[in-house]
Amino acid sequence: MSSRENDKPRHSRSFWLQSVRRLVVKVGTSTLTRGTQTLDASGVEDIVRQISDVRAQGVEVVLVSSGAIAVGLGRLGLARRPTSIGGLQAAASVGQNLLMHSYESLFRAHDLPVGQVLVTAGDLADRRRYVNFGNALNSLFEFGVVPVVNENDSVSVDEIRVGDNDTLAAHVANAVEADLLIVLTDTDGVFTADPHTFSDAARIPFVEGVSAEVTCIAEERHATTRAPGLGTGRMVTKVRAAEIVTASGIPMVLAHGAEEGIIGRVLDGADVGTFFAPAAPRSARRK
Ligand code: GLU
Repeated sequence: MSSRENDKPRHSRSFWLQSVRRLVVKVGTSTLTRGTQTLDASGVEDIVRQISDVRAQGVEVVLVSSGAIAVGLGRLGLARRPTSIGGLQAAASVGQNLLMHSYESLFRAHDLPVGQVLVTAGDLADRRRYVNFGNALNSLFEFGVVPVVNENDSVSVDEIRVGDNDTLAAHVANAVEADLLIVLTDTDGVFTADPHTFSDAARIPFVEGVSAEVTCIAEERHATTRAPGLGTGRMVTKVRAAEIVTASGIPMVLAHGAEEGIIGRVLDGADVGTFFAPAAPRSARRK
């Protein structure tokens, strides 16, 4: 963990961040809605501006965005998340449209076109479809488009769902051979215990691979990402996402989406959030 950060080059963030040319950013519902059922205008604008800044530096970015279901519930006047698949599909269908409408107008102000890409678990499980998915994202890069990816919740049913966008973002990072995955949530990384409950909980700044200890923390001591009562953010899906990408040689950072300029700070190697470093560098993976 942190104490080993400097004993070998690959145990430092700077080793992994020296040439990030392709980035996947996953933004969770909480960051986009701040706990409401509508998009938080300043929160979304802030993410769009940060991604545009990174793009201006020549980095290709895929945005994996949640929020469709929450925003759809608001638009349909539903106080609670429906339990029926049909209700969730309807909310996702309505909300995805609102989400893309916002992204289109906000990215347009930065002169960046956006492209919607919706996937189901089947697109990732079948080799040929997975390759097609990666190719589609690569084509969007060629046209200077910012791909905005979400699960196709309006046609997905339980048994064919990826189910969470942390896992989806990890598969996206693999499909485009990203140099880094940034997962933005509402805590500043993984803590030794839930910081909402334990005042002495300490942030874990650096993890190599995904240790059994960190998995155990995410399953038990720091299981949710939010203060009790606010929602169901789960740490375990984020740690699983880290497991998926680090196994492919791609690092991941889990950080607080509401922190000022967080994407740039992560890329600059600031000591924020939790950095998950792969056990082996990416060049080794490519061989
Ligand atoms: N795809 C869901 C949505 O857009 C979110 C899933 C997740 O947050 O992990 O509402």
